[in-house]
Order: sequence, then C-alpha cells, then structure tokens
Amino acid sequence: MGKCSVRDDWFLKSDGHNNCNTISEWARKHSDDQVFCILCQTSISVSNKGFQALTQHAGSVKHRNAVKIKLNTKQLRLAATSTTVQSSELKEKDNSGIHLYSVCDKSVIAEVMWAFKCIVSNFSFSASDGITDLFQCTYVF
Ligand SMILES: [Zn+2]
Repeated sequence: MGKCSVRDDWFLKSDGHNNCNTISEWARKHSDDQVFCILCQTSISVSNKGFQALTQHAGSVKHRNAVKIKLNTKQLRLAATSTTVQSSELKEKDNSGIHLYSVCDKSVIAEVMWAFKCIVSNFSFSASDGITDLFQCTYVF
C-alpha cells in the first residue's frame, strides 16, 4: 500500500468524536504526511492510516481531555489581528496584534442586539414568543 499524504479536504470533515468537532478546530497541516494537533501539541503521522489516523487521535483519552478544556466555549481564546503594525509600534505595546476573545461573546452580542431590535421596533412580547427555538435552529453558537 502506498504512503498516504495529507489532503486539504480532511480538515473540513468531522473527527467523529467529542461532539463531532471538525478537524480544522484542532489540527494544522505540518508536512505532506504529518498533521499537528494544536491541543495536544503533537504530530500525527498519516502515512500509514491516512484519515483514520486523525479520527483515532481524536478518540484518544489525552485528546478528548484536551478538547474538554481547550475547546470549551467558556474558554477565552487568543487571536492575532491582521492589521499591519509597524515594528516601532509593537515595541510600545507588547500585546498589540493579539487579543483575547470568547466564542460566548457572539451569543451575548446577538442577544443584546435582539433586545435592542425589539425595543426600537416596538415588538410586542408575544412577537418574540418562541424566538429562542427559532434562533437555536438557525444559528450555531
Ligand atoms: Zn490532540
């Protein structure tokens, strides 16, 4: 059997574990036959088992524990901003270009926006009745 190499479409697939996270949530392409798990800080060779190596890794106890902690929606995450900042400005602020965010923020913002919309448009209370069920079906928080 020939050696398997990493395919880009693998990262869009579900890992089949941990409430079915997509592979891209925890993995990055490391080389032609290796994927790096950013949660476990380890490389996974796909040369023999191909995609199955990723689903096997996702099912490991170490990885599942890391998912519970690091992919928890209450966990704050770091993100780099894509603004081009000159190096002299970077020296003044150590954290420029990097910010903390919470995925929960999006749902809080959505709730507040909806409350404002109801007030501004003078929606009746009954107009919002059952809206939670509708939003849960239409948005993923
Ligand atoms: Zn892992």
